[in-house]
Amino acid sequence: MSGKKEKGRVLQYHVMDLPSQGVDWEGTVSMEELDIADDDGRFEFPEELSFKLHLSQLGDDLLVSSGHLAVKIRAMCDRCTEFFDLKLETDDVCHRYEKVTGEVVDLTDDIREDILIVFPQSCLCSEDCRGLCPVCGANLNEGDCGCERPEEEEDDEEAEEASERPNPWAALDKLKLDN
Ligand SMILES: [Zn+2]
Ligand SMILES: [Zn+2]
Repeated sequence: MSGKKEKGRVLQYHVMDLPSQGVDWEGTVSMEELDIADDDGRFEFPEELSFKLHLSQLGDDLLVSSGHLAVKIRAMCDRCTEFFDLKLETDDVCHRYEKVTGEVVDLTDDIREDILIVFPQSCLCSEDCRGLCPVCGANLNEGDCGCERPEEEEDDEEAEEASERPNPWAALDKLKLDN
């Protein structure tokens, strides 16, 4: 018997007879152990993922339910390219392993999938991140660089909204003109 911990094979549970109410299994596992690596350099994983799973037995099957996964990562903002803290979590962890009594069940692949699903497609450090200056590349959240820039899209949107809003004074003006 070797206690060798293979990479990507860490969330193993030996299914013995579980009590009828089941058992709670909690702990932490590193993203590296889950075999999650970021090749694009958009994410960093300074902390381990914490998991809390409820295991119960149904006949010869092992049920994993009421699972909760949480991990704090560092993500790169798509607009300003600064890294910021981002918490990923999910309660949507439900799995069934059939006919596994007496066996060692490896949950690693499923847990990896469960957390990968909640990774965001796009990341913003804040809703109103001002991004980088298209002219000089300065981070505009840290102050204005003074470059001449074309009008920002956000301003256009605001202007559109304003023109759509009914203006009570416009109606009054019209009345005055008519008289
Ligand atoms: Zn940003
Ligand atoms: Zn600039």
